Amino acid sequence: MTWSIRWKVAFGTLVAVACGLLIAGVMTVQFLEQRYLTQFGNGLEVKTKLVEYGFQPLFHSSSLPPTSSALQETARDLGNRASARVTLVAADGTVLADSAVRDVDLPAVENHKSRPEIQQALSTGQGRDIRSSHTTGERTMYRAVLMQPSQMASPLVVRVGLPMVVLDHELSEFQQRLFLALGVAFLVALTLSIWLAHSITKPLSDIASAARRFSSGNQTFHVKTTAQDEVGLLASTLNHMADQLHAKIDELSEDRAQLLAVLTSMVEGVMVLDSRGHVLQINPALERMFGISRVEARGKPCTELFRHQQLNDLVTAILRSRTHHQDEIVLPLSGRCLQIEASPAGGERDNEASVVLVLHDMTELRRLEKIRKDFVANVSHELRTPLTSIKGYVEALLDGAKDNPAASTKFLEIILKQSDRLNLIIEDLLELSKIESGGISLKEEPLALRSVIDRTLSMIKPIADKNRHRLVTTVDPSLPPVAGDEDRLVQVLTNLLDNAIKYTPAGGTISIGAKLAPSVGSPDPSARAIELSVADTGIGIPEEDRPRVFERFYRVDKARSRELGGTGLGLAIVKHIVEGHRGQVWVEANHPQGSRFVVRLPLGAAARGLHHMNEASRA
Ligand code: ADP
Repeated sequence: MTWSIRWKVAFGTLVAVACGLLIAGVMTVQFLEQRYLTQFGNGLEVKTKLVEYGFQPLFHSSSLPPTSSALQETARDLGNRASARVTLVAADGTVLADSAVRDVDLPAVENHKSRPEIQQALSTGQGRDIRSSHTTGERTMYRAVLMQPSQMASPLVVRVGLPMVVLDHELSEFQQRLFLALGVAFLVALTLSIWLAHSITKPLSDIASAARRFSSGNQTFHVKTTAQDEVGLLASTLNHMADQLHAKIDELSEDRAQLLAVLTSMVEGVMVLDSRGHVLQINPALERMFGISRVEARGKPCTELFRHQQLNDLVTAILRSRTHHQDEIVLPLSGRCLQIEASPAGGERDNEASVVLVLHDMTELRRLEKIRKDFVANVSHELRTPLTSIKGYVEALLDGAKDNPAASTKFLEIILKQSDRLNLIIEDLLELSKIESGGISLKEEPLALRSVIDRTLSMIKPIADKNRHRLVTTVDPSLPPVAGDEDRLVQVLTNLLDNAIKYTPAGGTISIGAKLAPSVGSPDPSARAIELSVADTGIGIPEEDRPRVFERFYRVDKARSRELGGTGLGLAIVKHIVEGHRGQVWVEANHPQGSRFVVRLPLGAAARGLHHMNEASRA
C-alpha cells in the first residue's frame, strides 16, 4: 500500500505526539507514586517511633515483664491513636501483641521471624516493606524498629502497618485524570496534525496533479498558491519553469514547422544521415525520387535502403573523410539523373545529424542540354551541306569549268539552288527562334477558318496544279469563328499543304477539312473545338516516326527531304503556333494511303486565353 504524503505527515506527527504523551504520562505517574510513597513512609516512620515510645513505660514500670493482655491493650490503644496496625514481635518472631488481632486469636498468629521488615529491624535496628498482609489481606506499608526493654532482656520489634488503600485510591484517581488529560491532548494533536498535514501537503498535491496534467499533454501548467513558505516558492518556481518550457516548446514547434515547410516545399530531395549512415530524415521530394516513404526509411542504413553502388560509395566517402562531396547518379529504373551534394553536418553520435545530402533532379536540364547540343550539331550539319556544295562548285568553276558555258550555267544554277536552300534554312531558323524566344505575340481576333483556308489555297494552288494534285476542300458551313492569329494560322496551313504536295507523288489527292469536334483535355465536357485537317495520298509516315516529325530537323528520309527542298523545321514551327493557340497537332495514317495531319483549336473561353508565344511549350 502506498501512503500519500498527507497521511505520512499526519501519522508521523501523531505517533511522535502519542509517544511523547505516553512517556510524559508514565514518568509523571512514577514520579508522583514515588513522592507519595516517600511522604507516606516518612509519616509511618514517625508513627512507629512514637508507638515504640508508647510501649517503653510497660517495660520500665515494674521488674516483672508485662502481661500479654497489657501488651495487647497498649497495642490496641497505640494502634487507635496512630490509625494503624501495631504489632509487637519478640526476637524469635513470636507475636506478643497485635492491634488487629483479637486476644483469643493471638496464640494462633503465625511466627513473624521471616517477615522482611522484622529481619531488617533485628539486624540493623530499622526495617521496612510493602506487601499484602497475611493477616488482613490488604496492601500494607510496614515500618519496624528494634526496642531494647532492658539491658538483660532480649530485644523486641515494634512494627506499625498502614494499609495503602487510600494512597492507592488517590494514585489511581490521579492516573485516571492524567490519562484523561493526555487523551484530550492526543485528540487536539490528532486534529492539529491532520490540519497541518493538509496545509503542508495541499500545495504539494496541487503541484503533483498539475505536473500530471502537464505530462499528459495539457499545455497549461499553473499551481495556485498563496503560501509564502518553501512550498509556495517551489510552486512559483515550477510555474515559472513551466511558462519557460511552454515558450521553448512553442518556439521549437514553430522552428520545426518552418523547417518542415521548407523541407516539404523543396524541389530538391533532402536526406539527413547520422554518423553510422542511418537515415534520420528525408523530405517528400526524396520520397518521390526513390519511391519510398519516410516511415520505412527512418532508422535504416542508407546503403541497405537504396542499393545504389555510386550513392553508397559517396556516403561511405563522406562518412570517412567528413568533407564535402559531389557526384551525379542515374537511377536504374526511372533513368532519372540526380546530382548529389553531400555535406558534413557536425553530429558525431548516433541519431545526430552527421551528413546532409541534397539531391537535384537534373533529368530535364540534361535533356535540354542534349536537345541544345543536338540542335547545334543539326544546324551545323544542315548549313554545312549546302555550303560544301556551293564551295565545291565555285572551286570547280575556278578550276576551269567557267570556260565551259554549259557546265558553268549548270554549276551556277546548282549554286543558286543551294543558296536558296541556305536562305530558307536561315529564315526558318530565325522564325523558330523568334517564336521560341517570345519575339512574336499572337493576335486574338475572331476569324472564319474558311478565309484562312482560301488565303492559303490561293498561294498553294499553282504549285499543286504544277504537280497535278487534286485539292479537295470540305468545310462545315456552320463553323463558328475561332479566336486566333490569321497570318500564323495561314502559315500553319501553308506548311502542312507544302509538305503534302512535297511528299505526294504527282496526280495525288490532297484533302483539306474543317469541322466541329469535342475539345480534348478540357475540364468542361461540353467544350467544343475546331478540327482542321490536311490529308494526302502520299508516301505516308511510318508509325514509329509520327511522334517525332514535329522535332526540329527530324526527317523520316533525310536525302529525300533535302532533295525536295525541305528544311526539317516546318512542322516544328507548326507545332509552336498551334500550341500558342492552346491547340494540339498530331499526325495519323490516311486511308488507304498517305498521312493525315490534324490541328485542333479550342473554341470559347479556352481560346480567349491565347498563349503568348514564349509560354508555348518547347519542342
Ligand atoms: P521538311 O522541310 O523536311 O519537310 P518538316 O518539318 O516539314 O520538314 O517535316 C519533317 C518530316 O516529316 C519530313 O522530312 C518528312 O519526312 C515528314 N513529313 C512531313 N509531312 C509529310 C507528309 N505529308 N507525308 C509524308 N511525310 C511527311
